[in-house]
Amino acid sequence: MSMTGQLLIGQRACRGENGELRGLDAATGKALEPAFGGASLADLDRACELAEAAFDDYRERPLERRAAFLESIASNILALGDELIERCVQETGLPRGRIEGERGRTVGQLRLFAEVVRQGSFLDVRIDPAQPERTPLPKVDLRLRNIAIGPVAVFGASNFPLAFSVAGGDTASALAAGCPVIVKAHSAHPGTSELVGRAIQQAVSIYGLPEGVFSLLFDTGRSIGQGLVADRRIKAVGFTGSRTGGVALMKIAAGREEPIPVYAEMSSINPVLLMPHALEERGTQIAGGFVTSLTLGAGQFCTNPGLILAIDGPALHLFEGAAVDALKKAAANTMLTPGIHSSYCQGVERLLAHAEVVTLGQGLEGDRYQARAALFATSARAFLQCLALREEVFGPASLIVRCADEAELKQAVSALEGQLTIALHISEADYPQVRALLPTLENKAGRLLVNGFGTGVEVGHAMVHGGPFPATSDTRTTSVGSLAINRFLRPVSYQDLPAALLPQELADGNPLSVPRRVNGGPAHD
Ligand code: NAP
Repeated sequence: MSMTGQLLIGQRACRGENGELRGLDAATGKALEPAFGGASLADLDRACELAEAAFDDYRERPLERRAAFLESIASNILALGDELIERCVQETGLPRGRIEGERGRTVGQLRLFAEVVRQGSFLDVRIDPAQPERTPLPKVDLRLRNIAIGPVAVFGASNFPLAFSVAGGDTASALAAGCPVIVKAHSAHPGTSELVGRAIQQAVSIYGLPEGVFSLLFDTGRSIGQGLVADRRIKAVGFTGSRTGGVALMKIAAGREEPIPVYAEMSSINPVLLMPHALEERGTQIAGGFVTSLTLGAGQFCTNPGLILAIDGPALHLFEGAAVDALKKAAANTMLTPGIHSSYCQGVERLLAHAEVVTLGQGLEGDRYQARAALFATSARAFLQCLALREEVFGPASLIVRCADEAELKQAVSALEGQLTIALHISEADYPQVRALLPTLENKAGRLLVNGFGTGVEVGHAMVHGGPFPATSDTRTTSVGSLAINRFLRPVSYQDLPAALLPQELADGNPLSVPRRVNGGPAHD
């Protein structure tokens, strides 16, 4: 399969006429072939029209077909072989092993959602049978199922060009829910986007689905992305990226005549709490793990440990020394885009110049677009006073906050914004303090983890990759794991619908054998 630079609108591939964009070689900044034509508003309109037309048909296709369609996307992605891997490595600067691993995760996510669809509990079928004899009033027959919300616009992430882009978690969960998807390709990896988009387009054709189930648009400015969110036919948005971008899209969605949900994953500094006994017992060992997590993938993980909170004293100084020793040997790595590199450098410059911040150490210097790791420290007092110290610096930079005592540590935790993760390093002797902190920590993050770091997100049924704002725009959801499907569903209740008109999953006798609750308990049908 080769790249052509075309838009994929339903089953058509056509040249966008609204300017051009090109992928860049992340290591050199050199423009790559081919040029990608930008979509026009007419292209956007056509993609939305097809998505709307596909919706009612697609969402009622048999669950088994929907599951097989997701699996077919996974197989088609694997069939792209080296062409996909090589283009993705070139466009992102991420090492081959990482991209191969990410492809495995992408394929695994699609297969996980296929299983979720087959199993059917996402439909959340509930039946409260009628009781005509009930007094003083007869009880009506009520049956509930979840249905798909409607066409979804997806904005892929720059830092997960496969697992959170064109066929990534948002797309997989929306398609699993029964929603057509229109992807606004990330400008940082257009070639990767086209290849994966074609793999989806092919699966739509193989399964004889309505063509509007999937479209892929390139945007040379902001009009297509913003136009998608504003379009009346789009019913939800999935986004991963910057706080500025996410908030801009949330505003557009909220200002529509019919406001729609935006599921945006944005900014998180993922605090790591070093509890006193753990720090005393194994601070230098924790420091090694911390630097590995900090510098992984040039620090370009949404779960990167950007903040350390601990009580000041000799044990913390030993930790800092060990972390600096490890950091000094850390190689600089190529960042995803020149823009991300430049905003990382500006963030580091701000910390280097901050009067209340000391620079503990920096990693090895690198080439033009490579990020040099950096570790800083400040007092809890300064951290509490200066909002800028709580902002994400996307890349391998972290700030240690030295707290005077337990009370100040708690104050610093209370001042945090919403987070994707909070990691705790603890020993048994720390349990009482941790128990007291847990309610505050639960209110701050989507995932609390112990004696590890947030990087490396397991894709499963009990995973939450979410959290209060600004980690995400909707604290009730997750963008990773099977629960992500709920973002694109809504419940419909059917009262006294004649048996002949009931959807199959609600029919007597449970012909689809989906899990059901009858009168609130498990059904034995
Ligand atoms: P971004 O600039 O927010 O872009 C994400 C996507 O949204 C892109 O497709 C972008 O279009 C689009 N977009 C952004 N602002 C928009 C607006 N106002 N209207 C319409 N569309 C808009 O994020 P990024 O390029 O991935 O990275 C930039 C920064 O985001 C990083 O430096 C980092 O701070 C942060 N980031 C955070 C995470 C995280 O998980 N916490 C992950 C990735 C990035 P274009 O492709 O045309 O730019």
